[in-house]
Amino acid sequence: MAEQKNDLMDKIVSLCKRRGFVFPSSEIYGGFAAVYDFGPYGVELARNIREAWWKAMVRDHDNIVGLDSAIFMHPKVWEASGHVGGFSDPLAECRECHSRVRVDHLLEEAGVQADEKMTDEDINKLFSEHKDKVVCPKCGKKSFTEAKSFNLLVQSNLGNFTGDWTKEPTYLRGETCQGIYVNFKNVLDSSRVKVPFGIAQIGKAFRNEITARQFIFRKREFEQMEMQYFVRPEEAAATYEEWRKKRWQYYLDLGIREENLRWHEHENLVFYAKAAWDIEYKFPFGFKELEGVHNRSDYDLTQHSKFSGEDLSYRDPITNEKFMPWIIETSVGLDRTFLAVMTDAYTEEEVGEGDTRVVLKFPRKLAPVQIAVFPLLKNKPELVAKAREIFGSLKENFRVEFDDNGNVGKRYRRQDEIGTPYCVTVDFDTIGLGDPSSDGSRAGDKSLEGTVTVRDRDTMKQERIPIAGLQEYFSERLK
Ligand code: ATP
Repeated sequence: MAEQKNDLMDKIVSLCKRRGFVFPSSEIYGGFAAVYDFGPYGVELARNIREAWWKAMVRDHDNIVGLDSAIFMHPKVWEASGHVGGFSDPLAECRECHSRVRVDHLLEEAGVQADEKMTDEDINKLFSEHKDKVVCPKCGKKSFTEAKSFNLLVQSNLGNFTGDWTKEPTYLRGETCQGIYVNFKNVLDSSRVKVPFGIAQIGKAFRNEITARQFIFRKREFEQMEMQYFVRPEEAAATYEEWRKKRWQYYLDLGIREENLRWHEHENLVFYAKAAWDIEYKFPFGFKELEGVHNRSDYDLTQHSKFSGEDLSYRDPITNEKFMPWIIETSVGLDRTFLAVMTDAYTEEEVGEGDTRVVLKFPRKLAPVQIAVFPLLKNKPELVAKAREIFGSLKENFRVEFDDNGNVGKRYRRQDEIGTPYCVTVDFDTIGLGDPSSDGSRAGDKSLEGTVTVRDRDTMKQERIPIAGLQEYFSERLK
């Protein structure tokens, strides 16, 4: 069991590649550190996760609206947000193997909590106080250079034709929520919302992450799903508690096992934050942040009012009272959710005689393929035609794949590995021909005509279901 845990990450990475969930970026050129591509099944899983989040946040709340702001924003946004000055990680180099390490992470692993906003001087003091406990994760040695802050914003030369683009850089956004803050007034003026209300957004974010380990847990180009909820200051604390409950429940509804989740409270809050808790998931490398739920006070709207000169305060339409709304934020990475869902689903099971099967036990609503339809043999036109017909009718309501590669046993293995909850097989009984290997003396079981075998991913049980009843059968189980 311990062994299974240790190499679980390797197994997930390899399955993701083998079955088309996640590929290293630009692999034929040797890859590109901390950048990954979603393959054919990965893109479906990612889409289902996005939809589940959008439904839980936007569709299920009559006072939360969506937004899709651009990746590029006015450079002043990142000054106002504090990212240009302070969005940095403390970095040191191992004197032995020259790998660059995140000092705050190494300290954390040694049981020492570093403040997010510590100066280089402070972090180096802490670093040298605990240097005996801090080892290089690559070579195991204990000798490092001093730590230096390294800004995480990714620069670009967009719109700068002067030649020296480092002088006036534009940035690829480091987080999606800034697009929400700067559109606060637009949304307010153009839609029916009134405080309290939320704006939700899903989109790409970019960070020059220093440590490029842990697969898709820490990417340089990743996707965030963020919701900013604007409230009256005096309601912020209670609303914050409500959102903590809702976000916990969201993961249970998504099908994540509760024993793999836990809360973690930030010990050192950034100066403007009033409360900050993370939902952590038990990844193969331990419990780590999946989502942050934060009470950000009136910091963001105040900063953008100051830097833009536009008053972003809110006037209550009934009482006429004017105030700066406070913000409760829920922020989660799509990629980290993807890895959590993969980890939760990954199962190895004994299936007799020392044989094991790998099966991804995805929650049914997240499975990239919900039903696979097979003709028993691919060179029998009658079987293929019937299977195609069933595929055609099921695809209207479900995510269905037609599969005629190899034999049925191999197809089950493949579908188990991509987490397909149901497989439907069309055989000779289905089309009233019975056993094809017989010399005609066996007519097959006529009572099975018009029925197919449905096999359940988790129990591996097979049952005979009439074709006419398939829609209902799957609606009950998949909708
Ligand atoms: P960490 O401490 O792990 O670097 P963070 O505290 O910087 O994360 P936030 O800025 O709060 O993260 O971002 C909100 C969410 O975005 C995180 O909870 C995480 O799910 C996701 N996220 C942040 N950075 C990355 C990344 N480099 N790759 C993938 N997802 C990320």
